[in-house]
Amino acid sequence: MRAMAPPEPTTAELLSTPVQFLPGVGPQRAELLAKLGLKTAADVLFFFPRDYQDFAQVRSVDQLEEGTLQSVYGTVEEAELRDSGGGKCVLGVLFRATDGGFFRGVWFNQPFLLKQFSRGQRMVLSGKPKLNGLFWELIHPSIVSLGDEEPEEPEEGLLPVYPLTEGLRQWHVRRVVRAALEKLTDCLDEVFPNEYLAKHNLWPIRQALPAIHFPEDRAALDKAQRRFVYQELFILQLGVALRRQAQHSNCHAPPLEVTPKIDARIRRLFPFELTAGQQAAIADVAADLGRESPMNRLLQGDVGSGKTVVAVYAMLAAIAHGFQAVLMTPTEVLARQHAQTLGRLLSKSHVRLASLTGGMPAGERRVMLEQIAAGEIDVVVGTHAVLQEDVVFHKLALVVIDEQHKFGVRQRAALRRAGLDPHYLVMTATPIPRTVTMTLFGDLDVSILRDMPPSRQPVKTYLAEPDQRAKWWDFFCRKLREGRQGYVVTPLVEESDQLAATSLDEAYEALVHGPLEAFRVGLIHGRMSSQEKDAVMEDFRSGKLQVLVCTSVVEVGVDVPNATLMTIESGHRFGLAQLHQLRGRIGRGSYPGFCTVFAEPESEEAQKRLDAFVSTTDGFVLAEEDFKLRGPGELFGTRQHGLPPLRVADLTRDEKLLEEARRDAAALVASDPGLALPAHARLQRMVMARYGKVLELADVG
Ligand code: ADP
Ligand code: MG
Repeated sequence: MRAMAPPEPTTAELLSTPVQFLPGVGPQRAELLAKLGLKTAADVLFFFPRDYQDFAQVRSVDQLEEGTLQSVYGTVEEAELRDSGGGKCVLGVLFRATDGGFFRGVWFNQPFLLKQFSRGQRMVLSGKPKLNGLFWELIHPSIVSLGDEEPEEPEEGLLPVYPLTEGLRQWHVRRVVRAALEKLTDCLDEVFPNEYLAKHNLWPIRQALPAIHFPEDRAALDKAQRRFVYQELFILQLGVALRRQAQHSNCHAPPLEVTPKIDARIRRLFPFELTAGQQAAIADVAADLGRESPMNRLLQGDVGSGKTVVAVYAMLAAIAHGFQAVLMTPTEVLARQHAQTLGRLLSKSHVRLASLTGGMPAGERRVMLEQIAAGEIDVVVGTHAVLQEDVVFHKLALVVIDEQHKFGVRQRAALRRAGLDPHYLVMTATPIPRTVTMTLFGDLDVSILRDMPPSRQPVKTYLAEPDQRAKWWDFFCRKLREGRQGYVVTPLVEESDQLAATSLDEAYEALVHGPLEAFRVGLIHGRMSSQEKDAVMEDFRSGKLQVLVCTSVVEVGVDVPNATLMTIESGHRFGLAQLHQLRGRIGRGSYPGFCTVFAEPESEEAQKRLDAFVSTTDGFVLAEEDFKLRGPGELFGTRQHGLPPLRVADLTRDEKLLEEARRDAAALVASDPGLALPAHARLQRMVMARYGKVLELADVG
């Protein structure tokens, strides 16, 4: 018998080699690597550094200077974790440098780091030094512990810093990555055609991959990163473009042509001149509705900019064609308010309006659902929750979603699964950065209301000292006597938050037996039933109540034009966006508004938030400030919108590449619908693997 030479392994086989078979990895280390998600050679290759250390810039303490990234060797002298109040902490570590001098490393809110700094531990720290009094300080530097086994002086140049797990050291991971690169780089297949790389000035993968791990210098690192950032954004944008395409070709919404006659009939209902922004948005909406593919439009406009009018226009256009429309809100209070506004506007029309609320008696609800299913109702107003369950429409043509910044791809997909294929109008008062609209809302068209209705009055905002209380209440009462109304806002009452609950009641008691004794004061909070909330809101709207003591229940969308006064208690406990939303409740009519905030900011960040809040009423400016203070994460994290997180791209840093990727993706999908050409099969697979499910691309291509 002849011995057969074993077949050469394919690239795919090589890439799926278990890490254990890479040089320098035994079973024990393989287990540790698995904890980081590294099971195969490919996992290792694409395990990108979270940071780099610049050993070309190793300095002694007396050579440090402000501004640039530098590294310095030190031995831990002392580590101290200090509580800075409000659940925050500062970790300060004093190091003795090789030349005998001292410097400090500082980390905020990362108490878990403490255990890494045992006295005598040798480390290399990289960061931008700042002189703080006597000592040089590195804030949030990257750190590498120098273990016994590690070569004393690491090599020159930029070294990668990887996420680690207990028991694994930087140099372990570096060694494994190096081994994987040596073994596999030469058999990696390029994703992009050559002309493409040339056109976009991107490094090919065999050059970029080694360089993102072990760059020769900054310039090489930039080139390598650029390639992978572009690739990641391009794949995402291809997903978005494919989804748009699928919507246009597979989804058929009823075309609702807005004829001049319909247009005139609708406009006659509005009791005021529309702003230029409203005109433009309505034109966008009317054009969308006339098409056979569903409208997918995001309407952005600061609080009070008059988004409701645009929604009403769209709904009436649907009804004019004999279809139904639904308006969804995040809260019941807002649902009821919209139902009332619509009721007033439509009182002389034949439009049949229903408001579906959570607290409705079952029998009443059943009847209403039957009417909706039979097409006996034209407009349904209700909360997201109510409408996502069991409502069956007779002929639904339009879904309007109010005050929603979380209404990303996933939530809309849920509605579609319910068998609906309507036009969509999503409205939000939260200014969304362009980069976010291009990604999370990438399949939406955007209209923006930049101007306010002309009658809108300015709101003056004050950050008050505690000893100014008496003076503020004097002013508050004088305005009440002049006929105005006002809010007193205290932080949210949580079910479990007994302490805060009593403080709301106490605040109420203190006011009605104190400064507001002579006035009619109501109380509203999240634990009340919707009927109770309703009754109180109605009393406030009608003027029966002059003051509303409330939690952030009033935050979203409530519209009582005669309310011009607002006291915000414990202002430091609200986020900036929330404060802005709250303030948006006043100054909505023809009288100027006055907002006073009492606060005990416990951190620098809280102080900055309050300062920003007082300095401007421009929601777009405040949103920018908010992103600077908190980063885009909380509000616009990809995860809560249902998209997998970006691995290398950063939406604030990579805006330009994002635009390029978006343009390129749109062009490619236009030239090759569904990416069906063999030349694009690989790209298509990559898009499907990452975004196929969340973007519901299953039926593409
Ligand atoms: P938001 O964009 O916050 O939802 P609304 O639609 O509730 O704003 O409008 C805020 C207030 O402004 C409402 O009382 C509304 O009637 C009024 N309004 C809207 N558009 C105009 C306009 N063009 N001229 C005057 N008032 C307007
Ligand atoms: Mg609104």
